[in-house]
Amino acid sequence: MTLPKPTYHFQGDFTPADKAESDFHYFRFDVPAGTRRIDIRFDYDRADGRNAVDIGLFDAHGDNADGFRGWSGSARGRITVSERDATPGYLPGPLPGGRWTIIIGLYRVHEGGCPWELDAWIWPDPGMGCGFPTVSRPHIGKRRTVSDRTGPRWYRGDFQSHTYHSDAKGAPGDLAAAARARGLDFVAVTDHNTVSQAPYLRALSGHELLLIPSMEVTTYYGHGNVWGIHHWLDFRCRTSEDMARVIEEVHRRGRLFSVNHPKENGPAWEYGLDLPFDCMEVWQAPWASRNWESRRFWMELLGRGRRVVAVGGSDRHQPPLYRLLGYYELGTPTTWVYAESLTQEAILAGVRAGHVFISEQPAGPRVELTAEVNGRSIMMGDELPCQGASKVSVRAHVWGASGKALWLLTRSGLAEVVPITSDEFEHVTQVSCDAGFVRAEIVYPESEWAGLPDGEPRLAALGNPVYFV
Ligand SMILES: [Zn+2]
Repeated sequence: MTLPKPTYHFQGDFTPADKAESDFHYFRFDVPAGTRRIDIRFDYDRADGRNAVDIGLFDAHGDNADGFRGWSGSARGRITVSERDATPGYLPGPLPGGRWTIIIGLYRVHEGGCPWELDAWIWPDPGMGCGFPTVSRPHIGKRRTVSDRTGPRWYRGDFQSHTYHSDAKGAPGDLAAAARARGLDFVAVTDHNTVSQAPYLRALSGHELLLIPSMEVTTYYGHGNVWGIHHWLDFRCRTSEDMARVIEEVHRRGRLFSVNHPKENGPAWEYGLDLPFDCMEVWQAPWASRNWESRRFWMELLGRGRRVVAVGGSDRHQPPLYRLLGYYELGTPTTWVYAESLTQEAILAGVRAGHVFISEQPAGPRVELTAEVNGRSIMMGDELPCQGASKVSVRAHVWGASGKALWLLTRSGLAEVVPITSDEFEHVTQVSCDAGFVRAEIVYPESEWAGLPDGEPRLAALGNPVYFV
């Protein structure tokens, strides 16, 4: 396609020295009042994947949350914004006159360098332009709320998924259809570093499906999820102090911060375990995808006395190849949350309370753990005061795991292994109050641990602890 002559043109060659100096580089251009469409083209030498360079846009309100207009990472280099439509990942809306900023993020730049070109076009009429693909601003419809499936119970969902608003292939509607096909009650739509998907989710939710607008804070040194947010979070972090500021803002907004896939192939989490995050994605994609590393970090935190809530996410990106393999399928794994109703606030309150377990599929297996002392009973995530008692009665209720084993773990490690002999199975045991906590896992027979490192169990389900004080 031959493009018209751009209003602005930039070009250069990024080097590892540019990356060392700063992860982010900024290109400013002036937008006259009355501008109705802006197009941007960014091309760079990918050098067979050795270079990875991201792009985003801020308007005249500045390069901060007020001026945020979108982010497409390295998934898209053809961008357009106007009042009524925009490239997925970008926010349609009025185009204020003044100085705009293109942000370029240097994820990877190899020794040979990275030649690049950047063009911007300013159009006085929204019908003009380069013809880059867009989606129209949605009509904000009323969410259909029917109460036949609400009320206190376990709801099953997925805490990490993506759409074409970041680097996945499908529209939010495709994701909603997949969620319905998998029988999920809720799905967090966690596009990378943008919230442009949020306005589309309301009309796609219904009485049987809740889509939760979320953002995956995607940095070059680790990823984290924030659920139930329409507000863009500044992801430009390099140090643990930078990340601490993000977590502080998330807490100020009354939300939870969840460390994502803290394992070698995650990408890994490099900000350390001392930050005050609330949750950890202990299980991302199928168990065999190195989740034992995340489990180890989580166990280390529990051992230190931190009460970090374990959650799961498929990280579904809907490329067809992965779908054929069954890899990254929505609900692999499924996170179950005990909530008062199927609403965003109730689901997130259930997570905050730790009323959560994870199973490998929407169909289960399921595991519930309760603990009882002096006639008082609690569920996973809750705290039980022992009040002089030396022992706690712990009850595990398991569905759909016949032939597997129930593992009970305390602060000191594996405490009990119980063969599961029926489809609906119950085990009651006594645990010392000094154990700190008890949690349950459903584990495959050892003959099915193939492909995992020595001694690493293959999990079918994992629950949060009941805590004793
Ligand atoms: Zn991620």
